[in-house]
Amino acid sequence: LFPIFLHMFLSRSTAYITLPSVLVAGPPGAGKTALVTRLERRAPKPATTYTSQTTNIVELAVNEDGSSSYNDDLDASGAVAKKFLVIDTPGHGKLRAATLARLTTASSTASDTKLRAVVYMVDSAALAEDGGIAAAASYLYDILLTLQKRMGAGNSSKAPPAIPVLVAANKADLFTALPAALIKTQLEAELGRIRTSRSKGLLSSGVGADDVDSANESDDWLGEYGSKAFHFAQMREFDIDVDVVAGNVVGGDGSGPGVDKWWKWIADKV
Ligand code: GDP
Repeated sequence: LFPIFLHMFLSRSTAYITLPSVLVAGPPGAGKTALVTRLERRAPKPATTYTSQTTNIVELAVNEDGSSSYNDDLDASGAVAKKFLVIDTPGHGKLRAATLARLTTASSTASDTKLRAVVYMVDSAALAEDGGIAAAASYLYDILLTLQKRMGAGNSSKAPPAIPVLVAANKADLFTALPAALIKTQLEAELGRIRTSRSKGLLSSGVGADDVDSANESDDWLGEYGSKAFHFAQMREFDIDVDVVAGNVVGGDGSGPGVDKWWKWIADKV
């Protein structure tokens, strides 16, 4: 089943290669489908979502200078619009490989997919629960490492286009939600722990640290090689800007920051 899915995933994407696109990823239940549905419907209330195992692609538009709201009807106002795609990927663990494969395809300079950005959505309230940070960080680690590796991949001297990452700290309307600044530091700490534990496999294999082929080892090290603590700022070396911004898809006005800041971030990247 998996290869069939992968094939569908990739062949479906080829129909859309001409439009810039934004990939939405994250653990299940983060609110990815709710976000994409809300942006698409341009309605204040998102429809009840379903457990999606497939990739959901919606076409959206923003005006030329990126200042229009997702609520604006650009057709009615006669504005010249920039069209782009938002790709909602399934969060289920077994389907993540397809999303990572998509990042790898988009990364080669030969590819004409126009992946502009990644929105990594997390449930800010679930992060406060036991194991919440670990669950959110492991998938983010794989995504960041995949994006990092694309900078070194290929023989082309031309650097692949930068792909910024927005960590959308969703469900800010819930009083149990962690604030964005705390989510940022906790994710950084957890990504650092994952980095250490993955590198131990290499170090404990009986080979002295000096004997390890550092070119290979540094390939699998997220961020600044050899650094003690991990910080998102280390990803800039690989042309990857990471922003952590709080918001909420559900909940009335005034219950949280809403989706406006995320929309502006996205509009700015496409
Ligand atoms: P996905 O698995 O990432 O696609 O997550 P869904 O979009 O299916 O959302 C999971 C659940 O979280 C649904 O019950 C949504 O209604 C709920 N949800 C999504 N966004 C928010 C939000 O901003 N605040 C609150 N309180 N619930 C939300």
